Amino acid sequence: MKKIQMVDLKGQYEKIKDQITTSFDEVLSNTAFVNGPQVHAFQKELEEYLNVKHVIPCANGTDALQIAMMGLGLKPGDEVITVDFTFAATVEVVALLQLTPVLIDVDVETFNIDIEALKKAITPKTKAIVPVHLFGQVANMDAVMEVAKAHDLFVIEDNAQAIGADYTWADGTKQKAGTIGHVGATSFFPSKNLGCYGDGGAIFTNDDDLAYTIRGIVNHGMYERYHHDVVGVNSRLDALQAAVLRAKLPNLDAYNNSRKASAAKYTAALEGVDGVVTPVQYGDESSHVYHQYTLRITNGKRDGLVKFLGEHQIPCGVYYPIPLHSQKAYTDARYNEADFTVTNQLSKEVISLPMHTELDDEQITFITDKIKEFLNA
Ligand SMILES: *Cc1c(COP(=O)(O)O)cnc(C)c1O
Repeated sequence: MKKIQMVDLKGQYEKIKDQITTSFDEVLSNTAFVNGPQVHAFQKELEEYLNVKHVIPCANGTDALQIAMMGLGLKPGDEVITVDFTFAATVEVVALLQLTPVLIDVDVETFNIDIEALKKAITPKTKAIVPVHLFGQVANMDAVMEVAKAHDLFVIEDNAQAIGADYTWADGTKQKAGTIGHVGATSFFPSKNLGCYGDGGAIFTNDDDLAYTIRGIVNHGMYERYHHDVVGVNSRLDALQAAVLRAKLPNLDAYNNSRKASAAKYTAALEGVDGVVTPVQYGDESSHVYHQYTLRITNGKRDGLVKFLGEHQIPCGVYYPIPLHSQKAYTDARYNEADFTVTNQLSKEVISLPMHTELDDEQITFITDKIKEFLNA
């Protein structure tokens, strides 16, 4: 059996090696290392894939979130509602911009934003909602957009984990995750579903004015060379990263399908095992691209399982072990433990299994057999 890895970037690379080498050579020979034709071509190809009017490449997913918020003109003191159960980047940028983060609980089945908690958290100072499509599953955007519309709020989708997922509206039509809210942010960190070989990110929007504003912000607030109209940042995608992304984008659906197939095999093997709750899929199968395959271990044996799998050379992850409202940087006297019962529970129950495009059946069987061996003991 091949050594089991949490993410197998090498195996994936071997299959597209020639293409990557050719694109790298192209960048090296034209020496446009930042922005330039590769970045522009990638931008156009991603716009087409996502069916969105504007893709603005930037340096990483955290920048993408920050720039999206700057582009919307959010001001210090504005309240931004996001989830307690996510990677810290989501709330970090809110705090950095001196906006007021308002963390809320998530739904125990989907791990995504809890709509009742969202409604309760809205105040006259609320300006934006940041739903996170956690682990690759699109949040309930019908409800999020309805709440946003009713209260005149911006929606910034944190799509770092769900690129390529389709959201199915209540009326049956589909739309790509990240293109539904006013603006979407994604990351091309190597382990993401569409990852480059370093850092990268992008912002998506269908709003022409917002896209114009954001294109200036990513480039030091310049709309005309050496005229700085707003305070911007330096956040660019390298051409070498764009070259990798161009080689991988045509495979993104196949990559996501491969993840979904592995997820289905995990679920088939683990459903009904005592103490295990397999991931709940909300909506149809295109709405989850399994950035992570995350189980809940409900019998208190999660930490024991992590240790046992480690002893058998099976890597796994706990995303996320500490709720954001309990993190030193983000505690706030206004928070009440009773409002975070689900996140508190999930932080003790979740375990993410190896998930990537190169998992094979032998590995999946070995992993699920070991989980059963431990939990049935
Ligand atoms: C990865 C990730 C980010 C940040 O992306 P970087 O490219 O690492 O800056 C933001 N939000 C979520 C949910 C993520 O998973």
